[in-house]
Amino acid sequence: MVIYIVSSQLVEAASRLPSNKNRSKIVHSLVNSLGLLKTAQVVRPVPATARELREYHSDDYLDVVLDDNALPSTLHGLTDDCPVFPGLPSYVQLVAGATLTAVKALQITDVAICWDGGRHHAQKSAASGFCYVADCVLAILAMRRVKEIHYPRPRIMYIDLDLHFSDAVSQAFYLQNSVLTLSIHHASPGFFPVSPLAPLQLPNQPDPPFDPFTLSIPLQPGASCSTYMAVFPLVQKVAEVFAPTHIIVQCGVDALSEDPHAMFNWSLSLDHPGSMGFYIHRILTTFPGKKLLLGGGGYNSPNAARAWAYLTSIALSDPLPVNTEIPYDHPVFPLYGPSFTLDVLEGTMQDQNTPEYLIHIIDSFTKHVIPALENAITPKAPQC
Ligand SMILES: [Zn+2]
Repeated sequence: MVIYIVSSQLVEAASRLPSNKNRSKIVHSLVNSLGLLKTAQVVRPVPATARELREYHSDDYLDVVLDDNALPSTLHGLTDDCPVFPGLPSYVQLVAGATLTAVKALQITDVAICWDGGRHHAQKSAASGFCYVADCVLAILAMRRVKEIHYPRPRIMYIDLDLHFSDAVSQAFYLQNSVLTLSIHHASPGFFPVSPLAPLQLPNQPDPPFDPFTLSIPLQPGASCSTYMAVFPLVQKVAEVFAPTHIIVQCGVDALSEDPHAMFNWSLSLDHPGSMGFYIHRILTTFPGKKLLLGGGGYNSPNAARAWAYLTSIALSDPLPVNTEIPYDHPVFPLYGPSFTLDVLEGTMQDQNTPEYLIHIIDSFTKHVIPALENAITPKAPQC
């Protein structure tokens, strides 16, 4: 059984997000038009309470974002790319509540999906990068608190596939050894988000101190399926060593080709080794633990809908053919031209991840990062 979190209130609230206006409506209506909600178990989100939000966010930040009459605030990041918008309090409560409802659902199932979540830049006391609520962090904290019969000590792995580094999530659990975060993203000087944890992290580096549970795979522009395929065994090995009981995958789709960022050139179809579909299929079918799939960035709304509908079908163990035609009854059908099918193909962008660069990443992980992780996990022999 796959639990899928949605309600009309959630769609209404999430569709108001200024950076992704109406994306939520487009995504869920395509998923519905393709008949996927007949197979998934739909669960309505319960809005997060102020107490639940306070598990991570500060009181002064919540006082502002939960106020219907909030004013722009530089102190709390509510300006520029994160303006105050009508419905902000219900947006924050419903998006956090949707992800937390998905976490609860994992007590009765192995896979839960919340495409309106995945807000990986929101800070404890500030909005950042189009993110107003740290639902990924709240989800991890909630998972850590759950004491299930089978998982008295949850081991949580967070995999972030968004184009942008998972700065707020990685920072929240940095040097805590209890949660493993692994982000695959673009990093270069000045590229958002600027974080000392975004470049490749190596043992013995002085600043910031290396944490074998805070991992980073930075990629160069034009990253395509072949580059993602080259680094996939690293993700696989980290999961094998860490042996998570729970995996959260942030499935931001701004690394796909045709995103307005035009930075990466990733494609969707399972038929291409290393594609986004390949990653999700392999993580769901071969990695240990319960899985929570979250959304994230993605600024080409029809492609976000294509991707998340396709990934939903993969989660339902019945992947749709990528040449599936977009149903005529889908309300924004004309936006899917010229192909009017589900696939997101690689474009013509040059992949700047050279064999030398990839060998550097792979060697760094296999010779240094993964042994350091193994060393940190292996129980120390008692000292005599
Ligand atoms: Zn992003």
